[in-house]
Amino acid sequence: MTPGRPVPPPLAKPLPGNPTRLDPHGSTQHAPSATARPAAAYGATASDSGLVPLTVARRAPKDDDVEIAIEFCGLCHSDVHATRGEWGTQNYPLVPGHEIVGRVSRVGAGVDDFAPGDLVGVGCMVDSCRECDSCLDGLEQYCENGMTGTYGAVDSRNGDAVTQGGYATSVVVDRRYVLRVPENLDPAAVAPLLCAGITTYSPLRHFGVEAGDVVGVVGLGGLGHMAVKLAKAMGADVKVFTTSDSKVAAARELGADGVILSRDETSMAAADRSIDVIIDTVAAPHDLNPYFRTLRRDGALFQLGLPSGAMPPVNPGALIRRRIAYAGSLIGGIAETQEMLDFCAEHGVVSDIEVVGAGQLNEAYDRMVAGDVKYRFVLDTSTLGTPSEKADA
Ligand SMILES: [Zn+2]
Ligand SMILES: [Zn+2]
Repeated sequence: MTPGRPVPPPLAKPLPGNPTRLDPHGSTQHAPSATARPAAAYGATASDSGLVPLTVARRAPKDDDVEIAIEFCGLCHSDVHATRGEWGTQNYPLVPGHEIVGRVSRVGAGVDDFAPGDLVGVGCMVDSCRECDSCLDGLEQYCENGMTGTYGAVDSRNGDAVTQGGYATSVVVDRRYVLRVPENLDPAAVAPLLCAGITTYSPLRHFGVEAGDVVGVVGLGGLGHMAVKLAKAMGADVKVFTTSDSKVAAARELGADGVILSRDETSMAAADRSIDVIIDTVAAPHDLNPYFRTLRRDGALFQLGLPSGAMPPVNPGALIRRRIAYAGSLIGGIAETQEMLDFCAEHGVVSDIEVVGAGQLNEAYDRMVAGDVKYRFVLDTSTLGTPSEKADA
């Protein structure tokens, strides 16, 4: 980033996308009878139930709704916390999943921007107030009245039903919160872009990262590996901070230009004042102060993980002496998420994934907690079976 240059708004540089398309599936088919169709799903019935087969009632598409036949859904660490009740009281049954990719199956009468057959995605939110300053700025994730999460949230525009997520064969979402997924990318590997991708893309864009900037990445998991790939695609020089020698090769494989051993004083001292912006993806409590010394004047550290415990205090002196910003960031708005998908299509960026079936979900959760995944599990929803006659949720 050029020192002193104003930070562009998130959508300052719209990227070439695919705003118009030829629909290979014929003219738009609006839902003829708008009947509700249940979905087969996997979810938790209690904090200690693990994930079990469930049937979810999906609403009949309303005028502005898009019904999506889900093909893949990424497994996010948030899903583990939520289903296990680690983030407070949950409504059960709870079907997690907010990295959804599938094809449109039906649309409501008022939908003319999506048609059956379109490849689409849904991320972490399915609604927001649409009226507050943040919503009007296209930053729905910061909705001042609270966005409606893709699962476990009260959906005030749909009878206060609790939203159920993407570990399911279908979902119905208002067209305003549906993303267009480029056809040139592997749809399974696109799924994690809807959370892990946009969560790291948004702060990189907000900071104005461009070719030649030096980006540091702390933590090499689902978020961190996307930060490396996206920053590389933006032309940055990418350094990965790691605590262990064992991750050096993995960081290089992802495209990192350098690796800094954060527990090695020599390695940290050599990185002094060398980095423009740090993307910190670690969710466990950790000391940030050693990282600040590696930032240049006017640098910034964005913390993306939400630790469950207290963090060691930040030393203001470390910030003051170099005019460093310590910031947070939450996913991205709908328009910015579309921009990110189009950017990934242009640069061939997707997540590194391991596809799992419904029967492997519980094992996959245990492996995620153990850090044993490179770098994202994705559920193949064709393994979910068929819905039963009576819905569980
Ligand atoms: Zn997530
Ligand atoms: Zn709002």
